[in-house]
Amino acid sequence: MFNSKAKAALRAIDEQMTALYQEKRYSQTLAILNDLGRKLINSDRCSFWCVDEKNDTLWTMEAHNVEKIVIPKGSGLVGYAIDYNEVLIVNKPYKDSRFNAEVDKQTGYKTKSILVMPVTNSKNQVIGAYQAINKRHGKFKQTDVKSLMLPAVMLGKILESQLLYNSAVEDQLTGLKNRRGFYDFYETYISSNEYHKHCVIMCDIDFFKKFNDTYGHNAGDAVLRHVANVFHSNIRVDDGVFRWGGEEFIFLLPHTDLDTAAGLAEKLRKTIEESVCRFEDLELRVTMSFGVHTISPTLNVEDNVKAADEKLYQAKENGRNQVRK
Ligand code: GH3
Ligand code: MG
Ligand code: MG
Repeated sequence: MFNSKAKAALRAIDEQMTALYQEKRYSQTLAILNDLGRKLINSDRCSFWCVDEKNDTLWTMEAHNVEKIVIPKGSGLVGYAIDYNEVLIVNKPYKDSRFNAEVDKQTGYKTKSILVMPVTNSKNQVIGAYQAINKRHGKFKQTDVKSLMLPAVMLGKILESQLLYNSAVEDQLTGLKNRRGFYDFYETYISSNEYHKHCVIMCDIDFFKKFNDTYGHNAGDAVLRHVANVFHSNIRVDDGVFRWGGEEFIFLLPHTDLDTAAGLAEKLRKTIEESVCRFEDLELRVTMSFGVHTISPTLNVEDNVKAADEKLYQAKENGRNQVRK
């Protein structure tokens, strides 16, 4: 089934793959798998497409030499292969009405032949696709489909673990990362980087119990989503924002000093105070209190969180709707 070059490639990556997979370093694992696919079937490019059910899009998790591409769900040959759970071999894509030439326009690359293989999870649901582009010599054939089966199965496993991980760290109500996501972020970007200054902000909605009593729990939920949206759209790309629990949120700001963090907290406080959450025919408003703390490398994560929480407590004691550092 495999030629000798492909067998050698398989052997060479086997150990590396296992190690990377165990460490959950998905992007490197995917890059290796991508390379393997190209070698096995002699294609110029390979890309892995993932279904984003929430946004109704398909996007490339890993693509050889190309930035992330996003297309509407159901579009192009990839969309077709995913929707119909069908392997596609198309050697004249520009003559195929399902082909989406937009991607070529975006990448400046001319597609001459395509092989798309849907990728499934352990429940046999299609969660993505393995796409090979431009066979180096000749056309894609059924034998290429066979050769791609192994990497496609591996890709399915990786995609599935990543999706499971994503859902395990996501807060269902707000779509922000949850407390577990916070700890993972802390471990990855904060504690491994102790020679830099990092900050943590803990914040909490003021008088939220009374708010729920007045407007009802559904209105309260709408406000939590509103607050999460305000936060999400007002932080920098490297910052992390998490729902700590209930009506409490926590931020991790890598490479940030105390004054900058307090400035961000003040901006967030003001934005929340001035914003309106529309729910049914109501215009809902809340305020929030914030505690800011510079992470001390000599304290563990719990004690650093506790220090931010103490600042938050001071902000509450001092009259709420304010920032304490
Ligand atoms: P403070 O200003 O001191 O923070 O007062 P508070 O009323 O906000 O604080 P308290 O801890 O007494 O009450 C928190 C309230 O948050 C109680 C609970 O009903 C509400 N809450 C927590 N999680 C949720 C949620 O998921 N949805 C809704 N609607 N309310 C929630
Ligand atoms: Mg509160
Ligand atoms: Mg609270």
